[in-house]
Amino acid sequence: MSSAVRPERGPAAAAGTRPGGPHRALLPLGIVLGGAALTLLLQVVFDPFSTHVPLCLVHQLTGIECPGCGATRAVHALLAGDLLLALRNNVLIVVALPLTVAGFVFWTARRVQGRTTDLMPSPGVVLVLAAIVGIFTVLRNLPAFWFIAPTSLVGA
Ligand SMILES: [Zn+2]
Repeated sequence: MSSAVRPERGPAAAAGTRPGGPHRALLPLGIVLGGAALTLLLQVVFDPFSTHVPLCLVHQLTGIECPGCGATRAVHALLAGDLLLALRNNVLIVVALPLTVAGFVFWTARRVQGRTTDLMPSPGVVLVLAAIVGIFTVLRNLPAFWFIAPTSLVGA
């Protein structure tokens, strides 16, 4: 097999480029459509504010609100158009969602242009993100920061 048939293994790969084109948006589009379909299905059939489903093992075993606790309720509230309720249930998710969407759009644009993207953040960024998540986890379990702990479930 020649390098003309599989250019991603040739000099273009070494330079961080691949043949671009609209077809390179199909994978991101499939991810978006699949995620949107699953999210909308869950939005219709499941109300996390009235249904108690023990999704968090950490909370079930320890009573500690982990950084992900309230994420389902936050996304549900966002999709219902209630930003304040979403922020109240998990501010970290509400802040992370637009950043994730921006990163996804950036990745898609680079794919279409035929440019590769290293999706791994630098160790410094990972350290800062871990610190934010750690501080958020500690604070939301302190009574003084009740406003960043998720709301209680109905009947729970
Ligand atoms: Zn949790």
